[in-house]
Amino acid sequence: MNLRELRNSLPSRVKVLAVSKGQDISAIRSIASNGQIDFGESRVQEALPKLESLKDLIDIRWHFIGSLQANKVRQVVRAFDVIHSIDSLKLAKRISRIAGEEFKRPSVMAQVKFRNDPNKGGFNLEEFLDAWNELIKLPNMDFVGLMTIAPLSLDLTQRKILFEECRVLADQLELEECSMGMSADWREAVESGSTWIRLGTSLFGSRLRS
Ligand SMILES: *Cc1c(COP(=O)(O)O)cnc(C)c1O
Repeated sequence: MNLRELRNSLPSRVKVLAVSKGQDISAIRSIASNGQIDFGESRVQEALPKLESLKDLIDIRWHFIGSLQANKVRQVVRAFDVIHSIDSLKLAKRISRIAGEEFKRPSVMAQVKFRNDPNKGGFNLEEFLDAWNELIKLPNMDFVGLMTIAPLSLDLTQRKILFEECRVLADQLELEECSMGMSADWREAVESGSTWIRLGTSLFGSRLRS
């Protein structure tokens, strides 16, 4: 997919996150040379050496989008600017504390499951709503939005409905960002009010490893 054409076709509030997991350094450089600033990685082990090799690209903003283990929080807080995938109050508190220690202030989002999906991480909706009053008060980070992944079992119409629910909740909580939509369903997400579409294979082609 042509990045420039894609960007020009999107409403102004929709940003493209280039998901570079499973992609090599030269592929990332090639996308970056087309003016792409925001890149997403989901595995700490894989990401850190790549970030190191690419640190001459000083404009790049790195987004962490994967499941984050407690013992990897410090590395992620040091290396990433945005975290899309906070899935528990405990994790949020840890990020907040460590961000303070590291003199960092990441932008963060809560990953929320709007349907039961044993294959994916994230807060259940009820858990999230219970945690919200505490989440929003945590220091050293800016709570900017919600992230969601549609279960594979849903068809595109059902995904669009799920994405609309995410947008409605974000608006109720006065959160600007909705990180939703991937290669298979970004059009539905954009129609529902996504502000970050996370594109891997449709931008880069297939992954080397997954
Ligand atoms: C891998 C991944 C993507 C990108 O997936 P594609 O289907 O390749 O676009 C988006 N979001 C998350 C959280 C991912 O792990």
